[in-house]
Amino acid sequence: MQETDILVVGAGAAGASLGYLLKQAGKDVLLLEMLDAKKKNKLCAGIIEHRAEQAFMDIFGKTLAEAGLVTMPMETMIVRHDDYEMSHTMPKKHQAVQGTEQGSVQDENAQGFVASLRNYLQKGGKMAAKMAVKKAAGYEPGVVSYKALPRKHFDDYILNRYLEAGGRLLDHTTVRSIDKERQVACCVNLVTKETFEIKYNTLVGADGATSIVRRLLTGKRQSTTLALEAPVPLTLRETVIYLRPADHGYFWYIPRGNDATVGCVYHKLGCRDSEIRKHFAACCADMGIKIESKIRGALIPDGSDVLLQPAEHCFLIGEAAGLSDNFTGGGIHYALLSAKALADALQGKKTYDEAMKPQLDAVHKNCSNANIYFAAGGKVVEFLGKKKTN
Ligand SMILES: Cc1cc2nc3c(=O)[nH]c(=O)nc-3n(C[C@H](O)[C@H](O)[C@H](O)COP(=O)(O)OP(=O)(O)OC[C@H]3O[C@@H](n4cnc5c(N)ncnc54)[C@H](O)[C@@H]3O)c2cc1C
Repeated sequence: MQETDILVVGAGAAGASLGYLLKQAGKDVLLLEMLDAKKKNKLCAGIIEHRAEQAFMDIFGKTLAEAGLVTMPMETMIVRHDDYEMSHTMPKKHQAVQGTEQGSVQDENAQGFVASLRNYLQKGGKMAAKMAVKKAAGYEPGVVSYKALPRKHFDDYILNRYLEAGGRLLDHTTVRSIDKERQVACCVNLVTKETFEIKYNTLVGADGATSIVRRLLTGKRQSTTLALEAPVPLTLRETVIYLRPADHGYFWYIPRGNDATVGCVYHKLGCRDSEIRKHFAACCADMGIKIESKIRGALIPDGSDVLLQPAEHCFLIGEAAGLSDNFTGGGIHYALLSAKALADALQGKKTYDEAMKPQLDAVHKNCSNANIYFAAGGKVVEFLGKKKTN
């Protein structure tokens, strides 16, 4: 039987960040990953919100640029609703970057979409739209400021930092069963089929939306939605967020340099594969985009099912904990923030629950208000944007 102080299952952004922080603190950590850790490539639009970069800096002490992570220049985002569209200019400070203060980024938001929202409230407008916008005005403004990068580069950077810090990794390995009393995980190497036991003091599930740790400890799967994504030829230089009337979700087009990626997430549809594919195809057709490569899908928690501590000595972080923004589908910032919060808790600082309180409030608020936000976004575009001519 192997032994470790802290056993972390899942070497994604959350698990590898936690491993790195714990190694820095001199702890004994073992990381398990079911795939080939160096080759795995998480399906992701690669949007790094301002608060995600802030969390990255808090963990690694560097901005993305200082870490050698090249982000795409993104100056403009077009928000489209039905036949209307309006453009949002990214806050300059976050574009130019380097350790921007949260406050100044929010000031810089007084452009584009958010400024339009404020003006709309001040100057009035159609009553129904005004009401919807008013209700949505509490939406976390950090999300309108972002950069994008290839997700693999981001995950590889974090994993390498963990390994350079002397972290141990067993890839192609997963957990088959957990004996909570003995604090032992029965594991299997998926290539050799060899099974073996690992004794732990603390067990952490960082194994994403389909978390096996969560399932083994609670007997339940969490509530998730299917998201689709595919690479496409570059047709536009701007990012497009396409909201369709009455859809609880959106379609995205994100330029990545030489090509672009399109994808969608529709929460009301849950995991109904054929319905989501139909919506995806309709949006591609509307935008004149042809998909020639494979469309990949992955699950995203819908934010209604957050769980931080499923059992004594056991914790969940990132998407395994259900930490995801129902409105945007974004979760990289929660992965990093929860890793940092748990690393601090395991060193006797604030408890994990306490440290995660602001994040839990945000996840719950965005989950219960997402309908309102989508409706409000659509109304703003309709009343303040321009009608498309072609
Ligand atoms: C299509 C799509 C687009 C997205 N776009 C964005 C975006 O632009 N911006 C954003 O902020 N968020 C985005 N997200 C969400 C974001 O990818 C997640 O919130 C983030 O990856 C969560 O990090 P994590 O470490 O918790 O989980 P993951 O990144 O999923 O990592 C989990 C790790 O655990 C491993 N694992 C899984 N099961 C097991 C097991 N049984 N045993 C061992 N290991 C296991 C996996 O292989 C993986 O390496 C997107 C998600 C999808 C699906």
